[in-house]
Amino acid sequence: MITYTISMPEPHTHLYHVTVVIDALSAPTLDLVLPAWTPGSYMIREYARHIQEFSAHGPDGAALPWRKTAKDSWQVDIGRAAQVTVRYKVYANELTVRTSHLDSRHGYFNPANVCVYVPGRTGEPLAVTVDVPAGWRVSTALEPGTGGSGSFIAQDYDELVDSPFECGTQRVLTFTVDEVPHEIVIWGRGNEDESQLVADTRRIVEVQRAMFNGLPYPHYSFILHLTDGRGGGLEHRNSVTNMVDRWTFRPERSYERYLSLTSHELFHVWNVKRLRPAPLGPFDYRSENYTRQLWLVEGVTSYYDELLLVRAGLMQPERYLEKQADKILSLQAQPGRHVQSLAQSSFDAWVKFYRPDENSANTSISYYLKGSLVCLLLDMEIRRGTNGSRSLDDVLRELYASYPISGPGIPEDGGALAAVEAVAGTQGGRFRDFFARYIVGTTELDYASALAAAGLELRWGYRQPRAIGSAPAWLGLQLKRQGERTLVAAVRADSPAYAAGVYADDELLALDGWRMDEERLNARLAERAPGDRVRLSLFRSDALIEVPVTLGTSPYDSLSIAPVAAPDDLQRQIFRDWLG
Ligand SMILES: [Zn+2]
Repeated sequence: MITYTISMPEPHTHLYHVTVVIDALSAPTLDLVLPAWTPGSYMIREYARHIQEFSAHGPDGAALPWRKTAKDSWQVDIGRAAQVTVRYKVYANELTVRTSHLDSRHGYFNPANVCVYVPGRTGEPLAVTVDVPAGWRVSTALEPGTGGSGSFIAQDYDELVDSPFECGTQRVLTFTVDEVPHEIVIWGRGNEDESQLVADTRRIVEVQRAMFNGLPYPHYSFILHLTDGRGGGLEHRNSVTNMVDRWTFRPERSYERYLSLTSHELFHVWNVKRLRPAPLGPFDYRSENYTRQLWLVEGVTSYYDELLLVRAGLMQPERYLEKQADKILSLQAQPGRHVQSLAQSSFDAWVKFYRPDENSANTSISYYLKGSLVCLLLDMEIRRGTNGSRSLDDVLRELYASYPISGPGIPEDGGALAAVEAVAGTQGGRFRDFFARYIVGTTELDYASALAAAGLELRWGYRQPRAIGSAPAWLGLQLKRQGERTLVAAVRADSPAYAAGVYADDELLALDGWRMDEERLNARLAERAPGDRVRLSLFRSDALIEVPVTLGTSPYDSLSIAPVAAPDDLQRQIFRDWLG
């Protein structure tokens, strides 16, 4: 068996001390590799850059020669030794859900950052011992081992990587659903109410269990980091790490963030940790694992996270519709929706979604945002096409039954469409067309038609009240403050500023000769009309330039979703089934 011992004798150094004992060796050399990425976070992060002081020894304690064979791999000459002990340290001072962190307050680690693997032996059971400072405890979803406290067993390397560890003086709140134990492991303090946290988290578990007819895990851990403004979540098979600002829990609008995140990450227990696109497991930990179905992983999950809060009674339907309207506004403000499809966005996540820049909104879309809106449209299309008898829920259950975790996963071509058609029928190619337009293609989403299925209509307008029939003037700049300076953060490709040649990073100085910051600029633009000509004064690098711009017509920046005047019976039924 391969055994790992992870200790933290000097937490203030941010160094984990790792000892790996590998037995049953027969070849003259031993290769070891550290993953370059963590499943769920689709970017190469080269964790090996944090490894230091690597050494290898035989059973007699004699040092063994070794060399790096690539940036992420080591090769040890073991001669005739049947067992080798490898030691190294891992610098851990990056506090995110996907990395590792160690200081005098706690230790949090993702095994992908810390535990090397032996190629060819990732299917073997592994033993892990975590040795913590006096007074600390260890929380993880791994099963306990036979070596007492701090000892754990993973069935294989995938399970190890899928089980982060929290070490310290964390609080542990517990509850059960269907007699399955759940724990909320909290590092940090803020304005949380422990009893409300338990009650609402349990409610989220119950409503998701109801959707999938049972809980698929033997126990589950919510690791919750309360931090200084950071956020994020990373799903695992039997656990999750969620990170929120410590003051997130009040008022209600802010608390929604905790509830949505918790609902989102728990949904991944089914969607991606068990039901998954074919390329996402078994994993190649050294390089990119490409799939055109991240929209199915993250879009579906983003669609259901808040929808299930409504079904759980934790969000009002009116508030849910407000949030859908915000999502629509947000996607419609991105010219990239004409350029990149959901399938392309999924495939290129490794170089685009996780590495946004000032041009991203012009050339790309988020498979979370657009994915969730396409799921809204698909859900309505299925409900309308089946006279309200079936929904996207049925498709998810169909997929979940058809592609168990032990199988090959959802095929890249046609797998999701086949499940929709199995549930709702082929309907003359209605769903095939839907996939071609909205997932493979970049056709503008028809929100109005979709929402009409549930007896709802869109009401577009402007945030600032205008005289009837008049639209605000528009530049199309996104600005940011840098100290005393106002800089252009991004320029929308469909905007007058873009046509006139304003660049990201230009420093805004004046409009028509008058000093401007963002607030003044918005106030002066509000006095102008589409078609007016203005002169922007900018610093580009160190040079002063003047850019004449003809103002355009502002796109709508306000949207509400409201009931139609006289919904018919089917519209009423679909609304009721959808939002209760
Ligand atoms: Zn997600």
